[in-house]
Amino acid sequence: MLNIVIFGPPGAGKGTQAVKLVEKYKLVHLSTGDIFRANIKSGTELGKLAKSYMDKGDLVPDEVTIRMLESEVNKQSNAKGFIFDGFPRTTAQAQALDKFLEGKKLSITLTLALEVEVEELTRRIMLRGKDSGRADDQDESIVRNRVQEYNTKTAPLKDFYKKQGKLRSVDGSGNVDEIFKNLSKEVNKMIE
Ligand code: AMP
Repeated sequence: MLNIVIFGPPGAGKGTQAVKLVEKYKLVHLSTGDIFRANIKSGTELGKLAKSYMDKGDLVPDEVTIRMLESEVNKQSNAKGFIFDGFPRTTAQAQALDKFLEGKKLSITLTLALEVEVEELTRRIMLRGKDSGRADDQDESIVRNRVQEYNTKTAPLKDFYKKQGKLRSVDGSGNVDEIFKNLSKEVNKMIE
């Protein structure tokens, strides 16, 4: 099974690249942000809870996020592999994911880290906000808080995966197809 974590700050292009990787390698796409947004749209309790954090640009608490992710994985009994997009975002989430997969005799194959400069990130998110309709893409102070959450809570995961020998950093600043080619190269090395 090919299990990929796509990792990077908000606006790095995780979602865009995840969709392309899913298509190429026939994986199941699990985006915690998308799942939260679907819950908000359908008005579930989980959605209401998640919204109170997302609107401020804060991370949703680990316990809730981990439980949701595990239940989504369990729904996919025929998956050839997964791409985890926007998860894990904290060390506790990464540890929980390892333990959960281990219980299924599975593991993360590799973590693809998209590297993009901070100024470019804010520019991209504000641009995306014009079309995405996402409340958390509209306001510069919320965007800045998301980047801050990334820097303090999520960036340390690079070391977590580096220690496991699974981290592959890829320049995320070029055009979409070029970045995708470089990501695919890293994936192919693992499966050839
Ligand atoms: P994204 O679509 O990945 O940019 O996520 C949008 C928002 O959803 C984030 O700013 C968080 O508030 C929340 N979120 C998504 N994934 C997670 C996660 N793994 N842990 C905590 N909060 C998350």
